[in-house]
Amino acid sequence: MATATLTIDLDAIAANWRALDRMSDPGTQTGAVVKADAYGLGIARVARALAQAGARRFFVALAEEGAALRQALGPGPQINVLSGHMGGDTEMIHDLDLTPMLNSIDQITRHLESLPGHPFGIQLDTGMNRLGLEFPEWEAVAPLVLDANPELVMSHLACADEPEHEMNAAQLAQFLAMTDGIEVPRSFAATGGILLGPDYHFDLTRPGIGLYGGRPFEEARPALRLALPVIQIREVAAGETVGYSNTWTAEEPALIATVSGGYADGLLRGLSNAAMLFDGATPCPLVGRVSMDLITVDVTHLKDVPQTLDILSEHQLVDDLADVAGTIGYEILTSLGPRYARRYTGGKA
Ligand SMILES: *Cc1c(COP(=O)(O)O)cnc(C)c1O
Repeated sequence: MATATLTIDLDAIAANWRALDRMSDPGTQTGAVVKADAYGLGIARVARALAQAGARRFFVALAEEGAALRQALGPGPQINVLSGHMGGDTEMIHDLDLTPMLNSIDQITRHLESLPGHPFGIQLDTGMNRLGLEFPEWEAVAPLVLDANPELVMSHLACADEPEHEMNAAQLAQFLAMTDGIEVPRSFAATGGILLGPDYHFDLTRPGIGLYGGRPFEEARPALRLALPVIQIREVAAGETVGYSNTWTAEEPALIATVSGGYADGLLRGLSNAAMLFDGATPCPLVGRVSMDLITVDVTHLKDVPQTLDILSEHQLVDDLADVAGTIGYEILTSLGPRYARRYTGGKA
């Protein structure tokens, strides 16, 4: 295997969607968040697999992502754009039948004036202070907006990955107050919100990270294997150093594999002298600094040095790697580099 290969298990992603779908009652629809190229895994293949599993409503961040998704899925599934209706996006929203989640009075005005009758949703701010209308704004425009028949009213939780956090209940109360008595379908929960329980589910959930095997959905099926080719092997004598700035010194004679993949491929520099690579289930420590295109790995204890070593697999999940790098699984996924060959298993398409 000459190139680093990221293998994406579409059946695992579909199984994770179904598992999250089963966590809410049948009256609650389960959407799928595929923004940022399906968290770096490839929007076309991932979204088609999710559509086959039964997903009918998809969420992207930007209209351009919605355009790519429409091409992959064809007509039918609803594509919601979280950034709403931005200036310059009107034609794309119209031609590709995208549903913007309107975030401000400006966006509402733009949408209702430029595309009257075109589907839209509303995003409310229940305390995260990022996107959406605040309570007084919403109160002012709600009658007019509701008259134009929104498809969805949604909000987003800031602390859903911490079930005990008081922010969750506070945002829920705010969402209920803001949407009390309306007949429009409501959406509040991403992956973390689904795990908080039925009070948070409303009519439609919006899982992202859980589909791809990330926390806080601990029961997720691992969906990724990232195998990096060994380019060279060398013997290092006791006292010799490895890599930039001599940050690792062999205490005894060692066998060091130089492996293709570096921070330009999303192997964050914080993994230096800390991460493990795996030969099957056998861990092999990354030694020295991560450089742009290469890492160095201590394989002294292996009987045979394999052609590839895994940095992601069932033995090391995205969150395991994120913990070592001091970040979150989302960042590990969306940093996965463009130089990896992406190989898909499972899925029917
Ligand atoms: C990213 C995002 C989601 C998905 O969140 P996960 O934590 O990945 O499940 C849902 N809703 C909104 C508004 C988002 O920005």
